[in-house]
Amino acid sequence: MSEPKKIAYVDKDACTSCHLCVDELPEVFVMDPDDLAEVHNPTGAEEDAIQDSIDTCPGECIHWKE
Ligand code: SF4
Repeated sequence: MSEPKKIAYVDKDACTSCHLCVDELPEVFVMDPDDLAEVHNPTGAEEDAIQDSIDTCPGECIHWKE
């Protein structure tokens, strides 16, 4: 039995526009026209790699959807 894929999202209200997540995982994150990060491809990287972005985001604004 396989677990359903976890889906990450960005709480844009807390994003500091540092671009770290986009620099690390452009397969998953992109900056929107307001220079706030968003997830454009939630399955673009392994969960471990996305978890690293969650752990290093200075705004602590990347989360898993429950
Ligand atoms: S790492 Fe966090 S604060 Fe920086 S751009 Fe990405 S979501 Fe925003």
